[in-house]
Amino acid sequence: MNNQNLNYAAPIFGSDAEAQILPQEYLNDSPIEPRLAYQLIKDELLDEGNARQNLATFCQTYMEPEATQIMSETLEKNAIDKSEYPRTTELENSCVRILAHLWNVPDSCKFIGTSTVGSSEACMLGGLAMKFRWRTRAQQAGIDTNAKKPNLVISSGYQVCWEKFCVYWDIELREVPMDEQHKSLDPAQITKYIDDYTIGVVGILGITYTGMLDDIKGLDAVLEEYNKKAKVSVPIHVDGASGGMFCPFLDPQLVWDFRLKNVVSISTSGHKYGLVYPGIGWVIWKDEEFLPKELIFSVSYLGGELPTIAINFSRSASQIIGQYYNFLRFGFDGYKAIHQRTRDVAQFLAKGVEDTGYFEVINKAEVLPIVCYKLKESPTRKWQLNDLTDRLLMKGWQVPTYPLPKNLEHVMLQRYVCRADFGMQMAHNFLQDFTMAIKELDEANISFYPSQTKEGRGFNHSK
Ligand SMILES: *Cc1c(COP(=O)(O)O)cnc(C)c1O
Repeated sequence: MNNQNLNYAAPIFGSDAEAQILPQEYLNDSPIEPRLAYQLIKDELLDEGNARQNLATFCQTYMEPEATQIMSETLEKNAIDKSEYPRTTELENSCVRILAHLWNVPDSCKFIGTSTVGSSEACMLGGLAMKFRWRTRAQQAGIDTNAKKPNLVISSGYQVCWEKFCVYWDIELREVPMDEQHKSLDPAQITKYIDDYTIGVVGILGITYTGMLDDIKGLDAVLEEYNKKAKVSVPIHVDGASGGMFCPFLDPQLVWDFRLKNVVSISTSGHKYGLVYPGIGWVIWKDEEFLPKELIFSVSYLGGELPTIAINFSRSASQIIGQYYNFLRFGFDGYKAIHQRTRDVAQFLAKGVEDTGYFEVINKAEVLPIVCYKLKESPTRKWQLNDLTDRLLMKGWQVPTYPLPKNLEHVMLQRYVCRADFGMQMAHNFLQDFTMAIKELDEANISFYPSQTKEGRGFNHSK
């Protein structure tokens, strides 16, 4: 029977389409009804994990119904088409200004910035600007810019986007290793790694592995000294993927942003603590002088020309609108309240983990709402963190176990990234499941029964 001849009253699960395997190599010959297509795809995704129980991801897993409504009603708007959508462009520009002010840009500076798909694109742009600026300044200083590859200095706790940046644009990645004492960038080490070919140093506000912060103020002080004598001064880009939209609300006294002289650009993920669904990031340069003109292209806008900096061209503006919705809806105090509650939950979890006595807690969510810990040594324990990951998954919780990077790869960690939609009651339930999982592992055996057992199980008609 041809689907097109089906009566709309035909039950979905009695339809022809439900009797087929979904197309995986070639298109179907004929169309199917929208309600069937919807159901088939919905069902295909049925056994995926529950995003809200995923403690591994930094990405937003909840937005308000009104936010998703305005976002789904604006899906067709093309963010790059500034002449057709000038109001959308203004919302984007407002977001850039709000962020620049949140990051304490000095009044005397002419900042410039853009939305991106995420931090990865934002980091690429920040890195590219540093590369182009380095080349011009190095040539002016009489350095042979072709003699060696330019380099970028970053702690070994970098996110993979920096490795991509260096590979794509042929830059040497100089890793400052982390060690037991320094599970973030050690500013005292920095000068060993920089030279006339250094395009910049990246400070990470929220190391993906541990949730700890690089000491960007300390880094700025070391570079300030170095730059006094350097032929080519070395700037800082802050990768604030997670912290950039968290710290300004809860820890405004923490100085990591444009208040520091050598911080020239900052990137962040709107879809992490900016509280928007995946697909939005931001990068801002403190002043136009830090974004070389070669990287700016123009698109037409209201009969004039508007600069664009992004690597991508067309994409939906709905994520930008979602970001603006959150800014308008929450305001400063709203973000602060949400982040404070998230951090309280993370600290509650850190305490719960510590109280079991099994773990050394490395990050207790003092700043970012991220908890990570390793197992204490024990001669009798027969299980590993991986076993705990498996047990927790039986209750639907996704908790990653992974090694630290280079130099510390023998250290296995487990991490929770707490997000706005993870409430105290969920945390309470999680800890119950966590404690139970540990108990089960402690008691686990291939067989649950002692080898000499004389007692059978189950009703057998003999008694
Ligand atoms: C998540 C993350 C990135 C990449 O961000 P996307 O928005 O996923 O592209 C870059 N740097 C750090 C420190 C991160 O945590």
